[in-house]
Amino acid sequence: MTETNPAPIVDTATRREIAPGVIVIPDHRIPLVPNIGIVLGDHSALVVDTGMGPRNGNAVLRAVKEVAGDRKLILTLTHFHPEHGFGAAPFKGKANILYNRAQGQDLAAKGPGYLEMFRGMGPEIAEALEGTELVEADEFYDGAEHEIDLGGRKVVLRNWGMAHTRGDQIVWVPDAGVLFTGDLAEEKTFPIFPWFPPDDTDIDGENWIKALKDCAAHRPKVVVPGHGEIGGVEIIEDVRKYIEDVSAKVAAAKVSGKDGEAIVAELEPAIRAAHPDWHFPEWIGFALRYHIDTLK
Ligand SMILES: [Zn+2]
Repeated sequence: MTETNPAPIVDTATRREIAPGVIVIPDHRIPLVPNIGIVLGDHSALVVDTGMGPRNGNAVLRAVKEVAGDRKLILTLTHFHPEHGFGAAPFKGKANILYNRAQGQDLAAKGPGYLEMFRGMGPEIAEALEGTELVEADEFYDGAEHEIDLGGRKVVLRNWGMAHTRGDQIVWVPDAGVLFTGDLAEEKTFPIFPWFPPDDTDIDGENWIKALKDCAAHRPKVVVPGHGEIGGVEIIEDVRKYIEDVSAKVAAAKVSGKDGEAIVAELEPAIRAAHPDWHFPEWIGFALRYHIDTLK
């Protein structure tokens, strides 16, 4: 991160309806801004992610109230990472905040550490995070799937356990064919492997691939990635192929007996060159080191 980065501010004025009653506040490819969703039913509205910090959280809440009117509000997050959920505090008392159990545990265990880490990433990020309060969910669900009735429309929350984090969750809107993936799938972006041993090693690449296969099996018409442009199922397939490819390349290099840094030095430029239009190549090394450290 450098001081030339744009501030991680959510632009709620550019929200748009991508399917009947499904609204997205797009990220405009601003680093540390997620794609945010609002799904409307007859009597309730589900909000997916908040952006980070109270200013973003309040702006999203205002936008939600404008489109949702007097519907009851439910807030869920795709995972605990700061840019997705650290704007939840303004929703406390105004929405029913609902996480899966593992996501709640992830936030409780790692939220304060991530808040400090992100504050250190640049002044505009520290400013966005000023006054951030980490709030607990009002309700947790257990198990792989949780259905919500929004009134005339059901929405399915689904998780697979540890993948990009310990509690990643997708939001599936079956009647519209819209799938919110969180950071399980980012569009034209090198997947984020937050491999920070010994502080955070909660990644499971194999399970991540399984989750992406299940996501594709939903046959979504529209995929809203955690970051990047909205598209189709190819967003999910591209990420799956990337992780499979990195895993296979590292496995082959390990068989040849090379040490970790030699493997990174050899593979990183080739992987970057294979995806010339993908963003944030700094994450290639993290994906390589995760596989180097964990593959048998
Ligand atoms: Zn993330």
